[in-house]
Amino acid sequence: MQTQNLGYPRIGSQRELKKAAEQYWAGKLSAQQLMQTGSSIRSQNWQLQKEAGIDLIPCNDFSLYDQVLDTCLMTGAIPQRYHDLMHNRQLPHIDLLFAMARGYQKEGYDITAMEMTKWFDTNYHYIVPEFSANQQFTLFSNKVLNEFIEAKEQGIAAKPVLIGPVSFLLLGKEKEPGFHRLELIRKLLPVYIEVLKKLEDAGAYYVQLDEPCLALDLTEAEQQVFAKAYQELRNKTQLRIILANYFECYGNNLSTALALPVDVLHLDLVRCPSQLDDILSTDLPSSRKILSLGVVDGRNIWKNNFETSLHLIGKAAAKLGAERVWIAPSCSLLHVPCDLDLETNNTILTPEIKQWMAFAKQKIDELVNLKQLASGEINASAQIKLQENIAAHQNRKTSALIHDPAVKQRVNAITSNDANRNNVFAERKTKQQRSLNLPLFPTTTIGSFPQTAEVRNWRQQLKKGQLTQEQYDEFIAEETAQAIHWQEETGIDVLVHGEFERNDMVEYFGEQLAGFVFTQNGWVQSYGTRCVKPPVIVGDVSRPAAMTVRWTSYAQSLTSKPVKGMLTGPVTILQWSFVRDDQPRRDTCTQIALAIRDEVVDLEKSGIAIIQIDEPAIREGLPLRRSNWNDYLQWAVQAFRISASGVKDQTQIHTHMCYSEFNDIIEHIANMDADVITIECSRSQMELLDAFAAFSYPNDIGPGVYDIHSPRVPSQHEMVQLMEKAKAVIPSSQLWVNPDCGLKTRGWPETKAALEEMVEAAKSLRATVSANA
Ligand code: GLN
Ligand code: ZN
Repeated sequence: MQTQNLGYPRIGSQRELKKAAEQYWAGKLSAQQLMQTGSSIRSQNWQLQKEAGIDLIPCNDFSLYDQVLDTCLMTGAIPQRYHDLMHNRQLPHIDLLFAMARGYQKEGYDITAMEMTKWFDTNYHYIVPEFSANQQFTLFSNKVLNEFIEAKEQGIAAKPVLIGPVSFLLLGKEKEPGFHRLELIRKLLPVYIEVLKKLEDAGAYYVQLDEPCLALDLTEAEQQVFAKAYQELRNKTQLRIILANYFECYGNNLSTALALPVDVLHLDLVRCPSQLDDILSTDLPSSRKILSLGVVDGRNIWKNNFETSLHLIGKAAAKLGAERVWIAPSCSLLHVPCDLDLETNNTILTPEIKQWMAFAKQKIDELVNLKQLASGEINASAQIKLQENIAAHQNRKTSALIHDPAVKQRVNAITSNDANRNNVFAERKTKQQRSLNLPLFPTTTIGSFPQTAEVRNWRQQLKKGQLTQEQYDEFIAEETAQAIHWQEETGIDVLVHGEFERNDMVEYFGEQLAGFVFTQNGWVQSYGTRCVKPPVIVGDVSRPAAMTVRWTSYAQSLTSKPVKGMLTGPVTILQWSFVRDDQPRRDTCTQIALAIRDEVVDLEKSGIAIIQIDEPAIREGLPLRRSNWNDYLQWAVQAFRISASGVKDQTQIHTHMCYSEFNDIIEHIANMDADVITIECSRSQMELLDAFAAFSYPNDIGPGVYDIHSPRVPSQHEMVQLMEKAKAVIPSSQLWVNPDCGLKTRGWPETKAALEEMVEAAKSLRATVSANA
């Protein structure tokens, strides 16, 4: 029996890499200093795993930015627009890499960055490879080889990790018509073979090829590409190949995977424990393949349940023999924070809660403990660890910190009535129109106004105790009042309070809800140098007191125009937190929905007539396989409806979504039954609206008329044109005018200028409609 790790967090336990890279970009650190930071992180990670006793330690799991981007560099898949930089300017690799990730705007160049998108169903984002019809590949970067040798020099016989060739192609995009990227496999494989040969010559024995696309629905043709590609690799290399799939079952790709000529097959048994039985009942046991059992959760922060894992390991060992069973995390540990030992503040994370958790470093120890226990070593310390593990799980099962009978009772008592408004949209719309009396093409914004350095600074000062709560509140009140007055003067119809008091749209609510805890140092990489510190949902969720009524009703008291209450929806709160693993996600989501519902009702009671429940993350929660979509959408939409349905017909519920691609789930979005949806679509030039039109979306809709991600101020004319496109497919009576997302990352000057143009655009739209009437 052996332990293997699939990947270790590379940002550094104190986010050293983030800080160094950002300083390098700012010209405050040399390339050499940045490389030095990288090599010291690698070496710390390797030593930590070695000392813990991990048998197979990964290398090339490190990256200065992203592992898919590294693969582009390895294979020379460098888009045309960087070629001049590369050849004529001879940009060093490190700068070329950052130029591809972030764009290059200097020395007369204006080269856009490569696109970025979500890594499967995680919150990590990778750089999307770009392929052209006559794409050539050459071995361009020796990073993997260098890191292998670097590890070797430090006494570590590391296992190089690469994105497998098929997933690398599938994760990319064709940048021109006329070919399919998988056709490039024949050109790509020689580069992989060259790399594998070099690794072999340098003394490597194993290589880990990550093929997470095996977790997706694949066509037969795609499955055949896997078969051919791996046969080709097998013919050309002696290296032992570890094929790693994670985030889902192999599913209908199982027979393809089993037939691949690889030596080790890795299974994610956290996501899909049932696949172990499936696999053990095939003819795999009679082959010589090794199974790597991903029993330790690489996606979440909970302590492993040793008894459950030992059961799975025992089952596999009985069938295959212990020497053909490996113990591993479910996926790379990239997705969990580095080290629970750094959480030293007992009031933030109490010892009781801490004993339920494990971060990357602790998960490494778990792998080793599991091996000791599973291989029946008489090892007193492992036995103690097992007893501790059982006790921690027992404690968690019954802890009063987690279990709130009142919440469970309330969830059980939910009926379908709780998820329905009193009347259908048409009736609600008439009543809302009567009480709100809004013009055609009403204007609004998505919620946040610029979080200036000043605003963030006050929050820092409050945290450090340099400002009293009263002083801080005074600042917030002043900022809010200014925002309200400015919106009134500008002629916006539905105002917002600006969200100045909020650090983050999930954290702000998590901090006020029972059942959530926070970490001091629980950072995980989101993309490049950007890290997030997700809240942890440990227990049953409830809302001890109103969360937003104070600032919303303060803002409302300053104006006679409606101020929109602003809440984060249950699915988004769930999606952007570490979620408890002792009950289904849907149950946790329902609890959050009830807490948000209470807030919606309280806002209504305090006189707020319009309430927005943001669900930007509803699309990203979609399961990887289509067959699981309906189940997810059913409970996610239900949760939204529960949160929104406690109010009278007159109260107008809005929702907001961004990160597009709603076309395939449009019916479910309609089924949320929000009175108004504001949605991002200015970048896709309203293409999204086709879906809304084809489906004839029943409720009101505000297609975002300008892209808030850029400081550029759009003209009134552009926005009218976009709205004309919308009008062509959606009746004017259903349309709102708004930007495509919150404005917190923008500065005030461009925000004001753009919104003034937007108000003018709405006026001119109204004028044409009344002229035609
Ligand atoms: N109301 C939020 C804001 O304006 C919505 C943010 C989002 O969609 N991500 O900031
Ligand atoms: Zn948004």
